[in-house]
Amino acid sequence: MSAIIIDGKKIAGAVKEALRNEVETLTNQGVRPGLAVILVGEDPASQVYVRNKEQSCIELGMYSEVHRLPEETSQEELLALIRKLNESERIHGILVQKPLPAHIDEKPVIGAISVEKDVDGFHPISMGNLLIGDDGFVPCTPAGVMEMLKAYEIPVAGKRVAVIGRSNIVGKPMAALLIREHATVTVCHSRTENLPEVTREADIVIAAVGRAKMVTPDYIKPGAVVIDVGMNRLEDGKLAGDVDYEAVKEVASAITPVPGGVGRMTIAMLMKNTVQAARRVLESRA
Ligand code: NDP
Repeated sequence: MSAIIIDGKKIAGAVKEALRNEVETLTNQGVRPGLAVILVGEDPASQVYVRNKEQSCIELGMYSEVHRLPEETSQEELLALIRKLNESERIHGILVQKPLPAHIDEKPVIGAISVEKDVDGFHPISMGNLLIGDDGFVPCTPAGVMEMLKAYEIPVAGKRVAVIGRSNIVGKPMAALLIREHATVTVCHSRTENLPEVTREADIVIAAVGRAKMVTPDYIKPGAVVIDVGMNRLEDGKLAGDVDYEAVKEVASAITPVPGGVGRMTIAMLMKNTVQAARRVLESRA
C-alpha cells in the first residue's frame, strides 16, 4: 500500500486564491488588510521566513510593512514599536519573528501585541480563548494542519490522535484544536514512555518534534494518517521532516511531505488571520 500524498502546496494555493478575492472586496470597502512583521537581528532562516511573508502579502494585494531592527535593539525600543503598530490604522496584524536575541524577554513582547492584531495567535489571551472555545486567533501551523485534514476529508471527530510535541506554538494549540473537533487526543513528548506503542494506537499521528526522520514505520498503525510538522535541516543542506517519509508512506493511508506539506500552510493561515482581523475592523464600523 502506498499512501495518498497530502499536497500542502495545492491546499495553500486554494486558501490564498479565496483570500485574494476577499482582500479585493475589503479594499474596495475601505479596509485593505495590512500585516506588520518585525525582525530583530540577522538570523538567516528568519530573514527567509520574513521575505516569504512579505511576498505573500504582496501577491494577495495586502499592505505589508517589514521592520528590520538591528540585533542590539533594546526591549523598550521593540515595545515602543509594537505600541505604535497597535495604534496604526493601516495595520491589522502584527507578527514578531522568532527567535528574538537573547537579551530580549519574549513574554512581555508577545503580551504587548494588541489581541485584535495577534495574528500569530501566541498572546496568552488568544491561547486562552482557544482552550475555552471562544473566538480568537489560532496559531497558524496547527490551524494549517486542521485545514489540510478538512481538505482531504479526513475525519477527526471520535478518532484517536497522537500529537508528538507539546510546544506552545505547535503541540499544545494542535491538541486544543483537535479536542474542539471532538478527537480523542494523546499529547506525547520527550518523557513519554514507550512512544511507538502509544502512537501506534492512533488513527492520526501529528509529529512536531524537531528530530529528523524520528518517526519510523513502527510508530504507525497500518492505514493511519501521518502529518509531519517537522522542518529539520540536514547536514547536506536538505530539508527533512520528523517522519521517515519514504518508509512511513508504505504503511500510512495518507501523509504530508516535507517540503510541500505543512510548511506551505503556515503562511497561508497567517494571511487568513490577517484578512480576518481586517474584516473585524470593517464589521466594527458597521
Ligand atoms: P520545540 O522544540 O519547541 O518542541 C519540541 C517538542 O518535541 C517538545 O515538546 C519535546 O518534548 C518533544 N520532543 C523532543 N524530543 C522528543 C523525543 N525524542 N520523543 C518525543 N518527543 C520529543 O519545537 P516546535 O514545536 O517549535 O517545532 C517542532 C518542529 O516543527 C520543528 O522541526 C520545527 O522546525 C517545526 N515547525 C514547523 C513549522 C512549519 O511551518 N512547518 C512551524 C513551527 C515549527 P519536551 O516538551 O519534553 O521537551
